[in-house]
Amino acid sequence: MRNIAFKHFLTRTSNLLFSNNAALRNRASMSWLAVGLMAISSLVMYSVAHTGLASRSAVLVWSAVALSGSGLMALLVRSGWTAGWRDPALALPQIIWAVTMSAFAYVIAGSAKGVVPGSVAIALLFAGLNLRAKQIIVLSFYAVGVYAVAMLFAFREQPAEGRQLELIYGLVMFNMLLGSMFLSLRLHQLRKRLHVQRKELIAALAANKELASRDPLTGLLNRRHMLELMQLEQRRCLRGVRTMLLVQMDLDHFKSINDTYGHSVGDQALKKFADVVRSNIRSSDVLCRWGGEEFVLLLSDASVDGAMQTLHRVRVAVSAAQIDASVPDLRLTVSIGMAEHIPGELIDTTLDRADQALYCAKRGGRNQVVQAQRPLPESGQHDLMPAAAYS
Ligand code: GH3
Ligand code: MG
Ligand code: MG
Repeated sequence: MRNIAFKHFLTRTSNLLFSNNAALRNRASMSWLAVGLMAISSLVMYSVAHTGLASRSAVLVWSAVALSGSGLMALLVRSGWTAGWRDPALALPQIIWAVTMSAFAYVIAGSAKGVVPGSVAIALLFAGLNLRAKQIIVLSFYAVGVYAVAMLFAFREQPAEGRQLELIYGLVMFNMLLGSMFLSLRLHQLRKRLHVQRKELIAALAANKELASRDPLTGLLNRRHMLELMQLEQRRCLRGVRTMLLVQMDLDHFKSINDTYGHSVGDQALKKFADVVRSNIRSSDVLCRWGGEEFVLLLSDASVDGAMQTLHRVRVAVSAAQIDASVPDLRLTVSIGMAEHIPGELIDTTLDRADQALYCAKRGGRNQVVQAQRPLPESGQHDLMPAAAYS
């Protein structure tokens, strides 16, 4: 019980500090990290003051100003106030603040100024992770400028004998600034490349998925993808949200088209058939190439009578379409079997019923549409005789 209360307390505190919104949480945690680092730097500066190397009052003022600035920015970010801004994480102001405060620390730390370069390096590392290339360059120039001023101050403060060491410190500092700047730019480049690669990968995955779900010849969905759609539609039917009609279509005497005109005309006929059917159905209906010269059509939310009229229209349009200008007289016909899916029925069962209706259409002389009867409820058996045939 106590454990649960503690966990609850931790969650609430974490939400209060970081928010439970993922993007805001990310920004807030970075800002609180900056506050934390500033607090550690303050401790370091207090230690320096404690040894007598820096003025206690200067360190006190410095740490109050540095922490209030960072804290204020963290609060602004956490409150969501900055959410609509161009830089909602206040990354650039926070880094500029850290660099500026470190330059002041460089001046007041006196001969203990060796404690400062590390914190500037960290600030510039943040820049590589959060800023754009242009911002990194501007920031680097700013850092060099601000440190040049700080060094000038430190140099003037020194008695003549300490100035040589001051110059050496200055060189070390510039070396560190330049190194950090280049590393930061490199980090930015890597980040950018990673971003581009991620985008390319997402696009390639989407293209792959599209390829894997389509038939290359006709551009129609393939059987595998169609089965997924049917299952989705089946669940909707079960919830009583929709109705589903499944239609089996098989081109008539297709083998003889191949044998007489060649395989490429056969391919052209398949493409033409797909185009004609597509232009005669609603955009919400789905046509797929089931395999070879067989196609399956899924009609959702259509009445049986309306579907029969559509299929009749399709049949007539197919028989009227010219396949290819090179064979102007060649015509194609299709036999069609349609079954209404009964909620709770297996997809395979509905498809079987549509297939049996198609078989009836073939037996009845081809180039016709046959509607399968609904299965008998008590026996679960299907009536194999067609309810209606339109030719
Ligand atoms: P039925 O009226 O009874 O359906 O006769 P059919 O000739 O259409 O049926 P059958 O199953 O005997 O022949 C189907 C033909 O479809 C055989 C096969 O070569 C051809 N076919 C299957 N896939 C393709 C394809 O991608 N391109 C071409 N050109 N032909 C194909
Ligand atoms: Mg066939
Ligand atoms: Mg056929």
